[in-house]
Amino acid sequence: VTAPETHAFEADVSKLLHMMVHSVYSDRDVFLRELVSNAADACEKLRYEAISSPALLGDEPQARINLKLDKETGTLVIEDNGIGMTAADMGETLGTIARSGTKAFMDKLAADKNGEGQQLIGQFGVGFYSAFMVAGKVEVVSRRAGEVDAAIWSSDGLGTYTIAPADPAAAPARGTRVTLHLLEDAKTYAERYTVERIIKAQSGHVPVPIFLQEVASEEEPAQVADGVALWTKGKNDISEEDYADFYRSLAGQFDKPALTLHYRAEGRHEYSVLTFIPETKPFDLFDPDRKGRIKLYVRRVFITDEADILPRYLRFVRGLVDSADLPLNMSREMIQDSPVLSAIQKGVSNRILSELDKLSVSEPERYAPIWENFGPVLKEGLYEDFERRDALLGLARFKSTTSDGEWRSLKDYVSTLQENQTAIYYATGHDLDRIAQSPQIEGFKARGIEVLLLPDQVDSFWTTMGVDYEGKPFKSVTQGAADLSLIPLAGGSSAAATPSEEANNFIIFAKEALADQVSDVRISDRLTSSAVCIVAADNAMDLQLEKMLASAGR
Ligand code: ADP
Ligand code: MG
Repeated sequence: VTAPETHAFEADVSKLLHMMVHSVYSDRDVFLRELVSNAADACEKLRYEAISSPALLGDEPQARINLKLDKETGTLVIEDNGIGMTAADMGETLGTIARSGTKAFMDKLAADKNGEGQQLIGQFGVGFYSAFMVAGKVEVVSRRAGEVDAAIWSSDGLGTYTIAPADPAAAPARGTRVTLHLLEDAKTYAERYTVERIIKAQSGHVPVPIFLQEVASEEEPAQVADGVALWTKGKNDISEEDYADFYRSLAGQFDKPALTLHYRAEGRHEYSVLTFIPETKPFDLFDPDRKGRIKLYVRRVFITDEADILPRYLRFVRGLVDSADLPLNMSREMIQDSPVLSAIQKGVSNRILSELDKLSVSEPERYAPIWENFGPVLKEGLYEDFERRDALLGLARFKSTTSDGEWRSLKDYVSTLQENQTAIYYATGHDLDRIAQSPQIEGFKARGIEVLLLPDQVDSFWTTMGVDYEGKPFKSVTQGAADLSLIPLAGGSSAAATPSEEANNFIIFAKEALADQVSDVRISDRLTSSAVCIVAADNAMDLQLEKMLASAGR
């Protein structure tokens, strides 16, 4: 860039900005968390690049974030000495929406007609653009580490932004300075008391120290956050609130962790683990682009959040792993293939499942909402992860014809089998009530046989994979009726009356009339009040799966 260039924001950004400014944002303080987290990310990126190019650190090896407040001019400055941005970087990142989470959020909002999305915005982090909630003008001056040129980005958030060369003498030696010209009703963010309180509450555990200074006063900058990574502290020194704050700044979400797992693995491999299961479902849980977001550190240096540490069906887990024995100078690609990483992947995945199992037994009321939110994702593991299938079946919970709206485990199910019952019966569909009303399950109900009601899309897949639990195969109620004749009717005899001549004549008629559409017509034990129902042939595809594949054009 040699002269100022003006650009229009991407359409999605404009929409987002409009919302920031006009919606009643429940908690504007979060803009500071977003900007501090960007500053800390930038410091971590530099720390990583400096492993192979130590010269990038120059004479300022210590990462830091400085906050400068000026009550006179009503400005708040967030400055870091991290990786920095070139003018080109700015064009790519400050004007577009890169985060898949934010994209998914926008889609959700576009689909939302009742304006409920306006409330939802308060639950999710929306990154850099949240600066415009409190500022009428934002300037970003930055110099990429190792570069001579500096650039300035500026915008009033009303549709366009400009990028221009910056005066090198006035730019940070390295890193980024974000200046917020605060709105009239947001001047409190230039006050020491307010800013210090927010930093301590929201960003006290970022792994970079934070200093605060009032420009008008003669005082030295005061340190308001120590930059000691939370996971390196002892569990006894960390409160539940500390964990929750850390979770929020890590995940960019506003809820609380439903389950926190913090431990240190020792033995063949040494690593620390700090992971969280969120209390609420993220918007993009089923977005095919959603990746796992477990950060990988090596001895406190952030390496990557794309190491696929957990299997896809644990993609809702947030957190980090800090390895003591991966070499720091290994490329990201080589780390992917390293046996140390495989051991970590295995160890952490198993541990998460075993912690969930423990919780499901010791505190079922805390486990239920976790299953409610993430059960449909965990069930993907039943067909993706053969090795952990039994563990996952142990975690699975179901509503059933006899559970009265409560969750049942398979252990519960097999403990109440009826006489001669050798299978676990289930019915799939789109919503619980409709499945529960379906004529296919009447015969089962009449015999007191519990039928699992499976309403999730994923249920049509895993149930066809030959899954069994304690030697009992899963069987769809739409597949064959043979089993029922062996099981006595509840309170009555099992002797099925010999069909009348009338019934036999009807069967002959129906077979002829429907010859092209069905493979067989039979008298069945499975109905008690409905006259007819359609079932899949024995050993044929489950009916629900057949419908799904048909609608997918297969
Ligand atoms: P996210 O942090 O999730 O990527 P943001 O909207 O917060 O999304 O930031 C968008 C991008 O802008 C960042 O990914 C980064 O590339 C760039 N960026 C923002 N702040 C800084 C900073 N202080 N230093 C370097 N790059 C930054
Ligand atoms: Mg960010």
